Amino acid sequence: MIVVAIDGPGGVGKSTAARGLARRLDVPHVDTGAFYRAATLAVLRAGVDPADGPGSAEVARRAVIGWRAGRALLDGEDVEDAIRGPEVTANVSAVSAHPEVRAALLERQRAGVRERGGVVEGRDAGTVVVPDADLKVWLTAAPAERARRRAGQLGRTAPGEVERLTAELAARDDADAAQMARARDAVVMATDELEASQVLDRLEAMARSAREASGRREEARG
Ligand code: C5P
Repeated sequence: MIVVAIDGPGGVGKSTAARGLARRLDVPHVDTGAFYRAATLAVLRAGVDPADGPGSAEVARRAVIGWRAGRALLDGEDVEDAIRGPEVTANVSAVSAHPEVRAALLERQRAGVRERGGVVEGRDAGTVVVPDADLKVWLTAAPAERARRRAGQLGRTAPGEVERLTAELAARDDADAAQMARARDAVVMATDELEASQVLDRLEAMARSAREASGRREEARG
């Protein structure tokens, strides 16, 4: 069993890396950002102001967030596309900034990881969600590269799109600054010059040696 935390700013390739690594290690993939996105969709649908902390937390506590075939469910409905849309993206930082919202989602993000292991991705996976992970990685890439990748993912090719996305990602970085935390023991990996498959190969090698090291520690403890 292994627990890996993958953190970093938006558009850095966390999801591609985390999903691929979970598959290679045969453990669940936990996308903590998707929990915040689903809670944000619930807040918007309930007509609650995303600036209202207690109100947002109340909605988050009631929201039934689940997964089917890798797609997010809210109260049983497939909301995978809606949670990736512009309205949720524009409001998710405000909703996730409330400590009471974070408290409402934390245990659900952790559920199952202790028993089955997992690759947990987010902003605070290594510091808050799974602080005793076997391996913690902090991914980085220059803002323009992150925007280029995001434009590719979204299929946006119009002129000026990369510049628009660069500004959008920078604004979200600012709004997320308080909840973005790099663990002191995280390995920093700059991905600017790497293909997704190279990122994955390196992560897999690091994860396998972290697993061996923790196996040896357990053996030594007897
Ligand atoms: O990772 P993703 O971009 O989908 O995350 C969406 C948003 O959820 C982030 O911009 C951030 O506001 C919030 N988030 C968070 N803590 C996490 C993961 C995501 O606050 N661990």
